[in-house]
Formats: sequence, C-alpha cells, structure tokens
Amino acid sequence: MIAGELNFLVVEDDDFQRRMVVAMLRSLGAIEVREAGNGRQALEILHIANSQPVDIVLCDMDMPEMDGMEFLRHLGQENNTAAVIILSMLERVLLVSVEKMSEAYGVKLLGAVEKPITRAQLEALILRYERGESRARQSRGALRVFTFEEIRQGMKEKQFEPYFQPKVDMKTGRLMGAEALARWIHPQCGVIAPYAFIPLLEKAQEMDELTFMMLEKSVAACRSLQDKDHSLVISINVSLTSLTDITLADRITQGVLDAGVDPRSIVLEITESAAMTDVAHALENLARLRMHGFGLSIDDFGTGYSSMQQLMRIAFSELKIDQSFVRDIAHNEAMRIMVESSIGLARKLKVKSVAEGVETQQDWDALKSLKCDIAQGYFIAKPMSLDAFMDYCADADVDE
Ligand code: C2E
Ligand code: MG
Ligand code: MG
Repeated sequence: MIAGELNFLVVEDDDFQRRMVVAMLRSLGAIEVREAGNGRQALEILHIANSQPVDIVLCDMDMPEMDGMEFLRHLGQENNTAAVIILSMLERVLLVSVEKMSEAYGVKLLGAVEKPITRAQLEALILRYERGESRARQSRGALRVFTFEEIRQGMKEKQFEPYFQPKVDMKTGRLMGAEALARWIHPQCGVIAPYAFIPLLEKAQEMDELTFMMLEKSVAACRSLQDKDHSLVISINVSLTSLTDITLADRITQGVLDAGVDPRSIVLEITESAAMTDVAHALENLARLRMHGFGLSIDDFGTGYSSMQQLMRIAFSELKIDQSFVRDIAHNEAMRIMVESSIGLARKLKVKSVAEGVETQQDWDALKSLKCDIAQGYFIAKPMSLDAFMDYCADADVDE
C-alpha cells in the first residue's frame, strides 16, 4: 500500500469530486486524509498547532473564497514543505503556467493533472513523491528555509558553485557542452538547489553577485576543460531582470576575456522570471553580447511573459524548450505539438533547438523523430560537480 504512511489534504469545493479523490486515496492505502472546501479552510487545517504535518496536498484551482493559486502563494510564502498535486479543469497549457507560478513561489510541485484524476495517475504521483522524498531525506538541508541574510553571508564566503549538466548532440550522440547550474555548498546543510535562494535574490534585486560568481567559476571551468582538449560550450543562466543594467554586457564580456576564453564558447541562457518593463535596456545588452560573439539562448521557451516575445527580435542562437513540455511529450498530443512547433520555429529561424528535462528513452526517441538538435536531462546525466564532470568528459572521450 503505497500511500499508507503519508498524510494527505484534499482541497476541492465540489463535494462529489472531493469524495472521489478521497476514496481513491483510501483505495491506495491512505489512512490520514483531511479535507477542505477552499484555500482558506486548507490553510486553517495546515495551521492547526501540533498536528501531523501534511505530506501531500491535492488541490483544485477554481474554488470560491480563496482559489488554488492564492492558496499556493500562501503555501510558498509560509515555506510549507508539503508537496502539491494540482487537479484542475484548466487546459494543459494553462496548467503549465500554474506549474511555473508554483515553482516561482517555491512550492514543491509533484504534478498538475486535468480532472478527473485517474487512479494510475495518482499512484504515479505518489511514487514520484516517495522517490523525491528519499532524496530529500539524504540531504535534509534541501528542506531548510534560508533568510536573505544567510544567503548573503554564504555569498560573501563564496559557497556557491556551478554544477554542470551535459548537453548532447542528438544526431551524433556526442557531448557538446554543459549548462552551469548554481548550487550552494552549505557547510552544514549540504548541496542546496537554486529554488532555495534565487527567488529571494531576485526579489531583493541582488542577483548580480551570484551571476558574476557563477560566470567567473564557469568560465574558469571552461578554460580548464579546453586545456584538457575538451572544446565544450558552457551555458550560463542570466535572469532577464539583471539585463536592465546597461553596463552588464561589458562587464560580462570583460570577465570572459580576462579568463582567456572566447565568448563563442559561452552561451547565455536568458530566463524570464518576472514581467519586465525595461525591454529597451535588455535589448541593448543582448545585442552587445551577441556582437561580442556570445551565444544567446531563450530559456524555458513557451512559458515566459510577453517581454520574451519582444526579445525574439534579437539575434539569439538557441531556443530551449521548457521541460514542462518535454516531460509529457510521449503521452500528451498537445505537448508533442507544442514541442514540434518550437523545433520547427527554431529551424526556420536557423537557431539550435534544445530540449531540457529529457528523462527517458521514450522522450529521447520522440525528440529525435522531431529532429531536435540538442538534448539535456536526467536520461543523459544529472548536474554534477566540476570534478565529476571532468571525469565524465574523460569517459565520453574514451567512448568515441
Ligand atoms: P533551467 O535553466 O531551466 O535549468 C534546468 C533545470 O532543470 C535545472 O534545475 C536542472 O537540474 C533541471 N533538470 C535537468 N534535467 C532534468 C530532468 O531530466 N528532469 C527534471 N525533472 N529536471 C531536470 P535546477 O538546477 O534546480 O535549476 C533551476 C533553475 O534555476 C534553472 O532552470 C535556472 O532558471 C535557475 N538557475 C540555476 N542556476 C542559475 C544561475 O546561476 N543564475 C540564474 N539567473 N538562474 C539560475
Ligand atoms: Mg537554463
Ligand atoms: Mg528551463
């Protein structure tokens, strides 16, 4: 009985639907299932002192009084560690934006499914929780919540490092580069993922220091890889909000040249995490970076706000399809069409298409048949430390 030891909370205003979900949970072995008719009631349940913490919340979106989105916002703000399954009548494309929103609020999302949820879907999501949970148990630190001051102190002590995730050419299977992803190597809590610090830094408009620390370390890594004859392209994430400062392009360029690296070996992945007003400054920065030879990638393509569309006017060199589309590609027709048209768009614009979140052979095969250029995801390898990545590159060489 997979659900036996877990505490559930079902938040749904429709009595019939709520009872159905509760019955399904019970049939999967759940013992502790609490119920709420809207977000406000759900919060009250979560706030009851000394009660067992809820492990998984199943939540409808459209509810009276407090809807699912507001509820998820509170959950994120309160740093509640419950995992969430979104149940909704919303179309898949809308669910994707709710997924993005939840991520932005730091909510631990297991998945978003169209109603009615099936028993098999529910079972798969609970299994996903259990696999994730065992990972979280190993590094308990991942669940800790950090204050802005703690993060700032960690930055002062340069505890942030890039982890590298391979990017592979789908046609040849060859390793062609890696994305540098920020990790906080916390002296007590272990390796901390970006969701625990980036949203706070962005909110405080304090991303610059992290961006430059990542840039410096990733570029140095690129240099040492090249010294070992691995000519790889390293991708570095830059938040769109950082691009409002018009000196940014020159500072990035200088940093890369000082390290003895050709900007052509660096791709900057631009992520949009908040609507932006200062599009003109961003365009100026991006045009300048492109002029200096950097590759530019539109990250999380398909999920951004409209300012991203304006940025498409700039000569970017790569289009990175968001993992929320890739994840369902083998099972969901709408997602497949979305991915297919993104790849088609990239081809017409003569830029590389990259799929992130490639987790299974099925994903790989589907993307290959759609002629996607580059793949990145757990199916190939998880993000790893520089040392591990050096070994990985050496092995990749031997395989060829
Ligand atoms: P992203 O740039 O879209 O990076 C891809 C994320 O997907 C990474 O999460 C990566 O670990 C994860 N991922 C890769 N393959 C798979 C897969 O097969 N399955 C699943 N489920 N996930 C996969 P990570 O490292 O937690 O980073 C999250 C986001 O944080 C990044 O999304 C990026 O937007 C942001 N980020 C990370 N480092 C930096 C940084 O140095 N600067 C800025 N501005 N943002 C960063
Ligand atoms: Mg990225
Ligand atoms: Mg992405």
